[in-house]
Amino acid sequence: MSKFHTETVTHVHHWNDSLFTIKTTRDAGLRFRNGEFAMIGIMVDGKPLMRAYSIASPNYEEHLEFYSIKVQNGPLTSRLQHIKVGEELLVSKKPTGTLVLDDLLPAKNLYMLATGTGLAPFLSLARDPEVYEKFEKIVLVHCVRRVNDLAYKDMFENELPNDEIFGEWYKEKFIYYPTVTREEFKNQGRITDLLTSGKLFEDIGLPPISKENDRAMLCGSMAFNTDVSKILDDFGLEVSPRMGVPADYVVERAFVG
Ligand SMILES: Cc1cc2nc3c(=O)[nH]c(=O)nc-3n(C[C@H](O)[C@H](O)[C@H](O)COP(=O)(O)OP(=O)(O)OC[C@H]3O[C@@H](n4cnc5c(N)ncnc54)[C@H](O)[C@@H]3O)c2cc1C
Repeated sequence: MSKFHTETVTHVHHWNDSLFTIKTTRDAGLRFRNGEFAMIGIMVDGKPLMRAYSIASPNYEEHLEFYSIKVQNGPLTSRLQHIKVGEELLVSKKPTGTLVLDDLLPAKNLYMLATGTGLAPFLSLARDPEVYEKFEKIVLVHCVRRVNDLAYKDMFENELPNDEIFGEWYKEKFIYYPTVTREEFKNQGRITDLLTSGKLFEDIGLPPISKENDRAMLCGSMAFNTDVSKILDDFGLEVSPRMGVPADYVVERAFVG
């Protein structure tokens, strides 16, 4: 039996020359927890060419959504960026991953810290009612190089506050903090610097991160994850050592690099 479901692409949106979003049909049997990733891909020379992708849509939606980089000489994304509505996308049957609410101990605030396409799992989690039940404040920090890399900005600023299910909760609890490193923008600088300088906490009006009050989820490059983990360790937080063992923060690689 195949390890993959064959889905049909229903929608493609190009944010700019390096970022795009794909929506597909969803097999009724696919189960996942918000924040998990699946292997997705296409057939190349008769063989599946697959890569890990966070599922960007929440698990109650009928479709699947993936938010992707375009690596010009990347084996998968040099091809995937040309995919069209009506074409097929392979999706693994058993999503998995560490960025799940079950692996965080209870606390007041949840920090979601992402660079680039590391935003993807938080697109799913930001639309999970359980996040709003479990936490008083949810702070999403999304760091990109250029302003037009802030994909989904409109969703956070205009759509979610008006969501029928959790719009009121969102307005009360969710803090969206986009930051840009290489252009002028209202918030500037890397997440590491914003955390160590305390600028983030000043801007959002919360006290610095503490083990007592705060939990975190990280998704970015290997270097980002290492640097931010060190900072969270210094704040006194403990990382979940493996899936299924709850702790103060969890980490997932958005890509190797
Ligand atoms: C758990 C996990 C979840 C992931 N989720 C996503 C996701 O939701 N969206 C997504 O676009 N990618 C995601 N990735 C990366 C993805 O698996 C592929 O690496 C990416 O699609 C590029 O594939 P490729 O075959 O074109 O190039 P690859 O040969 O896989 O990568 C080539 C090089 O491109 C760079 N690169 C790869 N992916 C990225 C990226 N996302 N952002 C910046 N630089 C990158 C790296 O330096 C890498 O060495 C995830 C990776 C892991 C391990």
